Amino acid sequence: MYKAPRGTSDILPHQQQQWNYVKDVATTLAKSYGYQLLETPIFENTNLFSRGIGQTTDVVEKEMYSFEDRGGESLTLRPEGTAPVCRAYLEHGMHNLPQPVRMFYLCPIFRYERPQSGRYREHHQFGVECIGDIDPSIDAEIIAMAWALMNSLKLTNLSLLINTIGDSKCRPSYIEDLKLYYSEQIDKLCGDCQNRLNRNALRLLDCKKTDCIRIADSAPQILDHLCSDCLDHWLQLRNHLDYLSIPYTVNQKLVRGFDYYTRTVFEIQPAEEGAQSNICGGGRYDGLMEQIGGSPTPGIGFGVGIERLIINLERQNVSIPIFPPASVFVAHIGDEAKSMALMLSQQLRNEGIDTILGPTNRSLRAQMRYVNSVNIPFAIIVGDQEIQNDVVILRDMTIGEQTELTIEDAIAKVKKAN
Ligand SMILES: [Zn+2]
Ligand SMILES: [Zn+2]
Repeated sequence: MYKAPRGTSDILPHQQQQWNYVKDVATTLAKSYGYQLLETPIFENTNLFSRGIGQTTDVVEKEMYSFEDRGGESLTLRPEGTAPVCRAYLEHGMHNLPQPVRMFYLCPIFRYERPQSGRYREHHQFGVECIGDIDPSIDAEIIAMAWALMNSLKLTNLSLLINTIGDSKCRPSYIEDLKLYYSEQIDKLCGDCQNRLNRNALRLLDCKKTDCIRIADSAPQILDHLCSDCLDHWLQLRNHLDYLSIPYTVNQKLVRGFDYYTRTVFEIQPAEEGAQSNICGGGRYDGLMEQIGGSPTPGIGFGVGIERLIINLERQNVSIPIFPPASVFVAHIGDEAKSMALMLSQQLRNEGIDTILGPTNRSLRAQMRYVNSVNIPFAIIVGDQEIQNDVVILRDMTIGEQTELTIEDAIAKVKKAN
């Protein structure tokens, strides 16, 4: 027997309402801020990601699904959402549009990770990107939007963490300081951190090992190294967030996994869990366009994992609207009734009423049990007797009342309630 590949899962019919609900809330929110959907291919040129995300990041070093196609070209299944959006922005000359360009996406993401709860090899992401404006008010808009998404989904008990990681002007000297600080106590670091020290020192602040956390607590802080532009950007952002009454916490150890981030970075985490389980992450990426061959263009965005949102909705018992699979169920008993039921179902659908045709081999009682269990509001029952009398039985499932009606009257009644 075949199974879905490790770290992937099917989204079954009964799970779709939950998924659609989350997607609808996210899409409605994005549109309310003037963001428009962008769809990009599932795979891209491998270089887009290795240049964009950074050669020394975990994703590029260990987690990409890369393959050579039959023409010998190296392609990679999308491991994150931002680089493809930026590629599309450049390819389609979107710098000619009024700036900033606001776009959102909803798509599968592929990473070769060790599967565990909330971590998959294929997961789905909703993300937004605002490209072409460097002003900190845009950072505030993006963070406010991420926060509003959590509120719209009625998720509670979350923390919003923000930080700045400077830019290419001020970050290098901070990294030098960081390297100096860490190299003095390299023996106490975990193996991963020892390896990363010279290649990606910023990530050491992010290590989850107890000893490394302790060392990171006293590490030099970026705020002491910011250039005047970055400091000004940071202070303005905080002002805007205060003005919007967004409840954030500054966390100087928050860095993000990708090299393309500049200045603002942020995450939203469930309060009861560690940083591994963040449900939303984002930040500014003013250097990314240049990395992938465009002219300097600022940008900022965030991504949320749909699976993680759903895990949190379930954990917090957030009730979501559940709709019955149809408005009417047409039960039938006997051969003649079968054709009648087929035709009647068609008539109902032509009137815009979602209709499920009953099975041929189940008792009426079993069929009514099913109708009840999935909350279909009406059942129409057709048997030989009804055909002879040119009527049907309409059962209002909510009050359990049955009436004998002509087909026209039955359809009219269902239509009125629909
Ligand atoms: Zn470590
Ligand atoms: Zn700076």
